[in-house]
Amino acid sequence: MTKNILRCSHCNLYTLEKTCPKCKKPTLEPKPAKFSVKDKFGKYRRNYKKQQAL
Ligand SMILES: [Zn+2]
Repeated sequence: MTKNILRCSHCNLYTLEKTCPKCKKPTLEPKPAKFSVKDKFGKYRRNYKKQQAL
């Protein structure tokens, strides 16, 4: 259940393999995407807090 999706930085292919099946390059965890989602959520939380204060 903890199998992470990996992304090839060479051809942007999403795979569960540690090496890209297309170009055989090592794949990486797409961490930047996860970070932006977290940041967006933080923005929502700040907005909610602001609304409650009024
Ligand atoms: Zn690739």
